[in-house]
Amino acid sequence: MTSLAILSFITAGAGAQSLDRQEQGIRTTIATTREAQIGYLQRVVDIPSSTLNFDGVRKVGAVFRASLDSLGFTTSWVAVPDAVGRAGHLVAEHRGKSGAVRMLLIGHLDTVVEPAGASWVRQDSTARGIGGADMKGGDVVILYALKALQAAGALREMNITIVFTGDEEHPGEPLADARRALIEAAQRTDVALAFEAGNRSDATVARRGASGWRVIASGRQAHSAGVFSQNAGYGAIYELARILDAFRTQLAGEQYLTMNAATIVGGTDVTYDTVAISGTTASKLNIVPSHAIAHGDLRFISAEQLTRIRERMRAIVAQHLPGTDATIVFRDEYPAMSPTPGNARLLAVYDSTSKALGYGAVAPLDPGRRGAGDISFVAPLIDGLDGLGALGGGTHAPEEHVDLATLTMQTERAALLLYRLGRRPASQFVRKPSSTSQN
Ligand SMILES: [Zn+2]
Repeated sequence: MTSLAILSFITAGAGAQSLDRQEQGIRTTIATTREAQIGYLQRVVDIPSSTLNFDGVRKVGAVFRASLDSLGFTTSWVAVPDAVGRAGHLVAEHRGKSGAVRMLLIGHLDTVVEPAGASWVRQDSTARGIGGADMKGGDVVILYALKALQAAGALREMNITIVFTGDEEHPGEPLADARRALIEAAQRTDVALAFEAGNRSDATVARRGASGWRVIASGRQAHSAGVFSQNAGYGAIYELARILDAFRTQLAGEQYLTMNAATIVGGTDVTYDTVAISGTTASKLNIVPSHAIAHGDLRFISAEQLTRIRERMRAIVAQHLPGTDATIVFRDEYPAMSPTPGNARLLAVYDSTSKALGYGAVAPLDPGRRGAGDISFVAPLIDGLDGLGALGGGTHAPEEHVDLATLTMQTERAALLLYRLGRRPASQFVRKPSSTSQN
């Protein structure tokens, strides 16, 4: 390294560790808008909007849409095909300087629980309320970060696309249609920042993907006295048991890979509903069973791992016991958000921002501790960071609460992350082909 390079490295390091004047201004604005921000969060939390409450989801969307309009965004409500059966999504675009990084901010408008009405109860530094943390809090972090950036005159040059989905908690199907608006937004942006509920000292650089699988085994219906013989064979249930046991003994234990056999049904008269995940069986104790079905999920960290494990599962299935047959079918659900070098670089910016604000270091969250989310759908296309939203707990439950004491911290960290990333050239965020393990 030349002395010039060392000098510029030190300068960049020092800059990252303190706030410039514009950043100080952003911080001041966020402090002064704190009560307004909490009031705004209360307003959107008090509109019940569980995924299938389309009217509620659209109402919450309309509140954010009006606010983003007034910040100079071009907004639209993107409907999904009727067959998908969901409320649709809010999409907002802000064009700034050409050549600067284009950032995709991801939120969602829906909740799991449907409260009877207004659910907000403020108790000192926390508030109970459905969606307070997951993730109307994150949506409000985005909005007040943008307001502060605008007040500082920094928003004008920034390229931002916002997608607030209306069905993150219970996506419509087919997923290709339900997530089209999000995926198309990723095709015209360079980095994704998702504001699902966060933590003080970690952020999400990887989320495991999810796939469904179903094994359907068959056997020759025959008298039980002949089981294990050449004529009667082993029956569908022994065949299915062989397969599941081989999954466990041969595939369990790989890092970030899990497979859960969720349900099983077998006998001679078997019904199984793959949507309701519900089945019935009837048999007699003296009959070698003809049908058996097991259904489960698979969690994985990369497309490579998914492909490889599916191949091994298929190979295990193919080693049939005498007189039996079996097939396995897979269903794509969420792709994995793999821990790419680009994701780590985004975390490094967030980490230095947090330190500069005096909030301490931010480390990567263990991917095994986070399920799939909307950012997973864009992770095959662009690098990203998740877990930038509000702090809280009890999500997906009636006791959900949001931490108001750290709302300002999250908003400051978000605003400065956008500020520091937003001025960089898009060319810095082009993903290297070698790091693109997704298809
Ligand atoms: Zn969520």
